[in-house]
Amino acid sequence: MDTKQASRFGFFSKTWFSGLYWQLSLTFLAVLTLLAGTYVYITVTSARTYFDAAQQRLNSQVAGRIVQYMSPFVEEGVDEGSVQRIFFNAMVINPSIEVYLLDTAGRILTNHPPNQSLLRKKVALEPLERYIASGQTLFIRGGDPRSETREKIFSAARVERNGRLSGYVYVVLTGERYDSALALLLGDHLAQLVSRTLAVTLLVAFVIGLVAFWFITRNLTEITSTVHRFREGDLTARIRLRATGELAELAQTFNQMADKMAANLEELQMLERLRRELIANISHDLRTPVTAIYGYAETLWLKKNELADTERDYYTHIIRQSAGKLQHLVEELFELSKLDALESTPQREPINIRELVQEVYQAFQLQASRKHISLSCTNGAGVTIVEIDAGMVERVLHNLVDNAIKYTPAGGSVAIRIAESAAAVEVSVADTGTGIAPDVLPYIFDRYYRRAENQPNPPPGGMGLGLVIVKKILELHHAELSVQTALNQGSRFSFRLPVRRG
Ligand code: ADP
Repeated sequence: MDTKQASRFGFFSKTWFSGLYWQLSLTFLAVLTLLAGTYVYITVTSARTYFDAAQQRLNSQVAGRIVQYMSPFVEEGVDEGSVQRIFFNAMVINPSIEVYLLDTAGRILTNHPPNQSLLRKKVALEPLERYIASGQTLFIRGGDPRSETREKIFSAARVERNGRLSGYVYVVLTGERYDSALALLLGDHLAQLVSRTLAVTLLVAFVIGLVAFWFITRNLTEITSTVHRFREGDLTARIRLRATGELAELAQTFNQMADKMAANLEELQMLERLRRELIANISHDLRTPVTAIYGYAETLWLKKNELADTERDYYTHIIRQSAGKLQHLVEELFELSKLDALESTPQREPINIRELVQEVYQAFQLQASRKHISLSCTNGAGVTIVEIDAGMVERVLHNLVDNAIKYTPAGGSVAIRIAESAAAVEVSVADTGTGIAPDVLPYIFDRYYRRAENQPNPPPGGMGLGLVIVKKILELHHAELSVQTALNQGSRFSFRLPVRRG
């Protein structure tokens, strides 16, 4: 299915015979044909009307002339012989006419040519009277006695005897001969007219249409082929249009979307690479203490009777130290994954932050004095209530003080400070230790970069996730961690928490 679609697109993108192009062209052709048909119909009907009007005007006097030269009524009724003669003469001059003598009610008394089948016995007089009243100038049609419904142009005149109306001469100007001759001519003419009009109009318009549609669909073809290339995995595919308006806007939007998707994909790929490196590093970190534990434990086991007490103590010390590192790393990883999974949402409660700081300070006193570092805590007494997860913030303080002691050489100092302002309290941990190199600083909160690229060998005792955890916890408390540091002079880490009053 996919390959089928692909080949279909491939074909269309290589040529300009896109589906849309042909749909537009054929619709256009249909519209043109309809228009041409309507045009021919209107032309033919109006030409017919024009000819009829001209014919009626030209022959308006025919009936009047006939009346001038005859007196059809005698005492006994109609003088059939003389009437037929005069009607015949009129028809010799104009063979397309049919002549009728009507009585005052419109009934047909006689007609020429004779012996023709008449379907009406009577002609409505109203059109005749209107025509005569207009002075034989009105364009009007009257009933055709040879059909029940048809109407035809005519000429008509009154027949009077002794000053009284005795009937009408009614001349159908376009009789059946005329009709058949006209039908023949019109058929030919019409066929020619239609074929020429259609041929010329359609051809010219269709060619113009093809060119116009090609220009329109060219851009669409470019869009579909580019979208297709992008879908097939060519992330560099971008739509290049020489157009303005909606299509250009569509193209621009697609290009922006493609840029974004490409950037996101690149970022995802990079994160995936870093994640792999992180796992590799962590495996390495885990392997080092495990190997040490395993090696020293085996030596103890194999040489249990041969070892001096000092050696045994040394081996046991290394095993304990390595197990401690292992435990530390596993705990940190566990904690971080919990924080990442948002399993540990802060359980906030009102806490006296000064008390919490004091506890952490006391917990580190022994460690600091062993390393000959002076650890101090100012403003530890008093009450400042903040709404925090005490366990989490204790962890933050613990990590910061632990780092400060770890990265400060013997003889240095570490100072924990609490500074309260109107709305917030700032807790800071400052040391006089190694400081952080400017090129490392941007990465110390980044679990990937720092480990993967800047610190291939983490410092002893540190597994490198402490600050990541600190930052994550503070983020959950909507607090920001700030760092000020100078190489070989010391560092100061601080964060602020809102104080609850009353
Ligand atoms: P680690 O376990 O490596 O200490 P952390 O996430 O706690 O991991 O710290 C990340 C890095 O930041 C450390 O490896 C160290 O380079 C630097 N760092 C953190 N705290 C301090 C400090 N107080 N003084 C100097 N460098 C520090």
